[in-house]
Amino acid sequence: MDARTSDLNAFLAAARSLLGEDGVNHSEETLRRYGENTLPGGDVRPAAVIYPDSTAQVQAIVRLANEHRVPLYPVSTGNNIGLGSRSASAPGQVVVDLGRRMNRILEINETLAYAVVEPGVTYQAMYDELVRRGNKLMLDVTSGPPQGGMLGNALDKGAGYGPYFDHFGFSCGMEVVLANGEILRTGDGALDSPDVSNWHTSKYSFGPILDGLFTQSNYGIVTRMGIWLLPRPPAIRSFHFAYDDDDDLAEIVDLCRPLKLSNFVPTLFRVANDLYLCGTEGESPEYRASGGKRSISAEGRRALRAKHGLGAWNVSGAFYGPSPAAMDPMIERVRAHFGQSGRARYIPHEEAQAIAPLAIAINAFSGVPGHGELGLLKWRPGGGNSWFLPGTPMIGKVANEFQQLCRGIYEEHGLDYTVMNVCSARFARGLHVLGFNREDEDERRRAEACYRKMAEEVARRGVYVGRAPVDFHEFHMAQAIAPFRDACAGIKNALDPNGILAPGRYGIHGHS
Ligand SMILES: Cc1cc2nc3c(=O)[nH]c(=O)nc-3n(C[C@H](O)[C@H](O)[C@H](O)COP(=O)(O)OP(=O)(O)OC[C@H]3O[C@@H](n4cnc5c(N)ncnc54)[C@H](O)[C@@H]3O)c2cc1C
Repeated sequence: MDARTSDLNAFLAAARSLLGEDGVNHSEETLRRYGENTLPGGDVRPAAVIYPDSTAQVQAIVRLANEHRVPLYPVSTGNNIGLGSRSASAPGQVVVDLGRRMNRILEINETLAYAVVEPGVTYQAMYDELVRRGNKLMLDVTSGPPQGGMLGNALDKGAGYGPYFDHFGFSCGMEVVLANGEILRTGDGALDSPDVSNWHTSKYSFGPILDGLFTQSNYGIVTRMGIWLLPRPPAIRSFHFAYDDDDDLAEIVDLCRPLKLSNFVPTLFRVANDLYLCGTEGESPEYRASGGKRSISAEGRRALRAKHGLGAWNVSGAFYGPSPAAMDPMIERVRAHFGQSGRARYIPHEEAQAIAPLAIAINAFSGVPGHGELGLLKWRPGGGNSWFLPGTPMIGKVANEFQQLCRGIYEEHGLDYTVMNVCSARFARGLHVLGFNREDEDERRRAEACYRKMAEEVARRGVYVGRAPVDFHEFHMAQAIAPFRDACAGIKNALDPNGILAPGRYGIHGHS
């Protein structure tokens, strides 16, 4: 759906009288900025940007959008870098920037360890507030932009690395403005009472769990969310192992699995390759010489590893405890476990703190937001960055076959294989970074083709992605079975019959 000019003008005039002059912007500069992203498919220019400051204003905007048949695209803090940033699903949609004005921390409950936030509360803002209150609670952060938000990230099924890594899983209780302008409260919040006690503490309340409907979809605008926090442990000790060969991934995955199945290690394992870590520290040393046409050479990778004291694969995890000394036996057990084959080089916590790319991992395990990993955006000039997010079962042989497959496809397209496998007990999400020069047409095309080829090849092996850049939503929806597509479309018809909320996001449209 694209807004007709007359409908759009009437909508914007009405929105302006509702939100005030500052609440609506369609200046050239704003439209350009909100359209920008880092993906190969190009920027996506919106028709306007609006800034509500309350749930009531969101309701009013949604009703107006229905009246004038104008498509809205909600973002919270709009830092979805590598997945679309603030770009809408299609040009001509009106971006609803919730984060600008709805950025209040509504509650922090220190006894039950949860927070309630509006869409604009960033990781940095929550961290600063928790520190101000005495640092008793720890939030689970991403290793991405500190200005990203807890609510938007949870809705996109984002994740961190600590025990509360699953950001949707550790959210509890939402307030959602539906496409008809009504307010839905999920979980215990659905109780018809002015005083709801367990909205943000009881996740599985009466009836169906509706919260999941609002993740990676276009069924509503979430205006409030409860998020669980971890009591901050007195001490955190990380451990790291460097491996020299690409095919060591098989051994690593098989070693991580039992430590997660038993939950002996409370964090996820970050299993990052050389370029994922060294790529945060500067531009590829070979990019200019090859004009971006070739992947970095084996010698180039070896030199980078030597410079930073890293391996072809690097494993990081952490323990939490009352004191560093109390965790010595756990660290010793992990060292013995990874030391069995003699292939791993142990890097202790103190040494890792001085290696910038490993310090990023320590911060992530410690609930401290940081900019370090954003260095990956500068590995190649031109700022192109797209994430490909398939996964593998935690079977070393299978994980390594995926590694060989995807590495080969990167090289075929002259790109640099840059991956972190985030390992839990049974499954590892493979965070594949496609870094490319967005100013170079040929490189852009290769990045797009590389993504498609990997997505097709892994799907042929039965693997789906867990999250996708906005350019590829339709492509991935087309990979789903027809009943899944039909169910998504049917729900869209039921909840948003005029299709005014982010039409096409995650490939979801109503039946016509
Ligand atoms: C170097 C680097 C490292 C990264 N590391 C991580 C990582 O460790 N973990 C991770 O998860 N991601 C990571 N990312 C990806 C991304 O940058 C973060 O996930 C970021 O937090 C997402 O942006 P946001 O929080 O501002 O969400 P937003 O951009 O606000 O929201 C994401 C999407 O959700 C939808 N949405 C948002 N708010 C609402 C709402 N209120 N109602 C309905 N729909 C809504 C919108 O479609 C929006 O586009 C990384 C990116 C980079 C470049």
